[in-house]
Amino acid sequence: MPFHDIAGRVSEVRERIAAASARGGHGQQVTIIAVTKTHGPEAVRAAWSAGLYAVGENRVQEAVRKMTAVEVPVAWHLIGHLQRNKVSALEHFAVLHSLDSVRLAEAVNEYGVRRGCAVEVLMQVNVSGEASKGGIELAAVPVEAERLAGFTGLRVAGVMTMAPYGASDCELRRVFQGARTARDMLTSAGHPASELSMGMSNDFEVAVEEGATMVRLGTVLFGARS
Ligand SMILES: *Cc1c(COP(=O)(O)O)cnc(C)c1O
Repeated sequence: MPFHDIAGRVSEVRERIAAASARGGHGQQVTIIAVTKTHGPEAVRAAWSAGLYAVGENRVQEAVRKMTAVEVPVAWHLIGHLQRNKVSALEHFAVLHSLDSVRLAEAVNEYGVRRGCAVEVLMQVNVSGEASKGGIELAAVPVEAERLAGFTGLRVAGVMTMAPYGASDCELRRVFQGARTARDMLTSAGHPASELSMGMSNDFEVAVEEGATMVRLGTVLFGARS
């Protein structure tokens, strides 16, 4: 599939983000993460040429294959679950959005210490409590934040969350506000947590109104995934 209209889509999305940001009043900068999963390398090139310099992938193998085929220097963000025995794949990624358990945090920390350079991570928080979703529960964040405070192999730069699909406006806001609370808990524990990765194609405007600093957008940029 060609992505010839991507520049137009990006400018439309940027306008919607600017309007949502003004409504929300948080005054934050918002980075668009172009989610290129299931699409080929041409989606990454199209994103780059439209001025999007960060791409999101949810599977390590698919992402690494795409990286070898792409010559534009985008930053690769891992937004899907990472298995503990695959942490060395983090060498290919700028940010891990899906630090979803303490056991994974331990493995990532060991890897970061071993390579001598902290891994940039976001704590994935399961605000809605949906059993199907990964992440650390909101109530557990203060305890886990304390535990991670001693980890020198990773840098907790913020929070990532996902809202339930098809949630009402009210439920969306509850989830996104919960992520903001989680970020405050991390900062209180001494983490440099400034980022809020939340909002996908169907809910990014509400997320930006609630303070998102990174939105992860696939469908609205590249069309439906087959
Ligand atoms: C696929 C995916 C997205 C993008 O979803 P769209 O609805 O296509 O914008 C965002 N975040 C994560 C974690 C994803 O897996």
